[in-house]
Amino acid sequence: MKTRQGFVSNSSSTSFSVFGIMLKGDETDSLLDRVLGPVKTTKDPGCSCDINRDEVKFCPVCGKPAWIETTEERDDPCEYETEIEEKLGLEVISWNGGENCGEGTYIGKNLRYWSKELPAIEKIEILGNVNNRLVELFPDKKANFFSDGTYDG
Ligand SMILES: [Zn+2]
Repeated sequence: MKTRQGFVSNSSSTSFSVFGIMLKGDETDSLLDRVLGPVKTTKDPGCSCDINRDEVKFCPVCGKPAWIETTEERDDPCEYETEIEEKLGLEVISWNGGENCGEGTYIGKNLRYWSKELPAIEKIEILGNVNNRLVELFPDKKANFFSDGTYDG
């Protein structure tokens, strides 16, 4: 689910409570690499001269690089949110890095939309399952409760 959308009004914030883990910038990048595979690098000729490019670093005719490598960037992790959620089987609550985002990227269970009718014992069971999945995926982290907010405006 997206928590970045916010409301159409001047400067509002949306707070949320999460059970799960928080990832900081580098950790978010490595999660994206881990789940989606490494970013693609494409290789294009650096010029249009008729040369044997694989034997030189620079074109002997015009001096331009023989090949130009372009590495794709994942600049907006929100784009991959649904895919990440499906692959992890967990919710992603707020991405860090974006200007409207909270302190970090939270992975786990968003407690905001929990039905009030759901008995605590069932919630505990659900959190137990979320915790088991998190332990599998992020053995170095210990899940906890977090409160944070996303800002709009
Ligand atoms: Zn050239």
